[in-house]
Amino acid sequence: MPQPMSSFSMPRRGLIRGTGAGLIAASGSAAAQQGDPAPVRAIGRPMPKLEREAPLSPEERVGFAVVGLGKFALNQILPSFAFCRQAKLVSLVSGDAAKAREVARQYGVPESGIHDYANYDRIADDPAIQVVYVILPNALHAEYTQRAFRAGKHVLCEKPMAVSSAEAREMIAAGRAAGRKLMVAYRAQYETFNRKAIEMIREGELGKLRLITSDHGRPAKPEEPADQWRLQRALAGGGSLFDVGIYAVNAMRYLSGEEPEEVMAMTQSDPDDPRFREVEDRTTWQFRMPSGLLCNGSTSYSYFETKRLSVLGTDAALRMDPATDYDLRRMWVSREGEREAELLLPMNNQFAAGLDHMAECVRENRDPRTPGEEGLRDMLAMEAIYEAARTGRTVRVGTP
Ligand code: NAD
Repeated sequence: MPQPMSSFSMPRRGLIRGTGAGLIAASGSAAAQQGDPAPVRAIGRPMPKLEREAPLSPEERVGFAVVGLGKFALNQILPSFAFCRQAKLVSLVSGDAAKAREVARQYGVPESGIHDYANYDRIADDPAIQVVYVILPNALHAEYTQRAFRAGKHVLCEKPMAVSSAEAREMIAAGRAAGRKLMVAYRAQYETFNRKAIEMIREGELGKLRLITSDHGRPAKPEEPADQWRLQRALAGGGSLFDVGIYAVNAMRYLSGEEPEEVMAMTQSDPDDPRFREVEDRTTWQFRMPSGLLCNGSTSYSYFETKRLSVLGTDAALRMDPATDYDLRRMWVSREGEREAELLLPMNNQFAAGLDHMAECVRENRDPRTPGEEGLRDMLAMEAIYEAARTGRTVRVGTP
């Protein structure tokens, strides 16, 4: 069995780092032992076959401008560019000049790449920017997306895509008119565990799907700036459903590969909780899918942090908890007569995977896996949920 090389095995054939020429070997020849200059020869081996997709050179990568330097952009997206192979950060748009300068310094964005909201339209003059990534409060997504299209850029937009299906349609139309791509950043659809679940379902490993259940919620914290706009209807568009319930709505659609036909729902907010003066707290809903599959969802701004889903099929069941966390995923499968088994999979950086997917679509002129139409489908489903809750009736989901 080969032993790991220790410092004791080095003198016979030491490795010296050469200057610019890579690694060179000093041989333990007689000449070397007599003090003559050691003959050196280049060693090394051909580049091994890449098991991962090779990174593009910085010049070949697709340049992104990040619009909005809030909690999600600073903590998740900007650090994830380091894990990208096709995308690179070239520009920042922020209303806070000092913050923008500091972040630009951290990530090597040139001074010329810093823009603010007032001069945002000048991104048109910056050829380094190919994609604009909109990470603003929900009600600003439509405006900043459409202005990016007018500036000739492609757009990656955070979820929820907009605050209404009407806005979502306008965004899609603007992208088409400009001949530019629109992708909604549904990170779970670029994440290995969720992709594995989709694959297992499509290959029939669960049998015929009967029920999908998903709960997504967290306590809203009014003391945090990122939650202050979320509790204002004008900026958020809706309550927990728009913010975190959308993960459950989207998962029901991508796991099943079906579009909801009918919806029943209820919402509930404690009347004396000041957080819910403008937006709702809890929502539960049921979808009936065309195949007869039923889905049962819940979302909340007042139950403890929960991001789970389960899929029950005729032959097997799949459970993920957490299903859509930033850092952790766990998945179990159970079959008739077998104990539930946990599936161990490598975790990927889902944010980098989404950024690279958008970059690849731009480079290869392909449509993204989660285009504007995907965001519109969720908007229509969520509008149907609100209407069902408001009217107490079963509502048919609108068509795109
Ligand atoms: P945040 O409040 O931390 O960031 C929003 C940024 O927009 C701030 O920098 C703020 O200064 C700026 N801004 C510009 N105009 C504003 C205005 N008129 N009012 C308020 N802020 C304004 O919020 P966040 O948590 O980073 O969320 C931003 C977006 O990203 C939302 O659409 C949210 O749904 C989405 N998001 C997605 C994920 C995900 O996992 N995909 C996670 C968190 C947030």
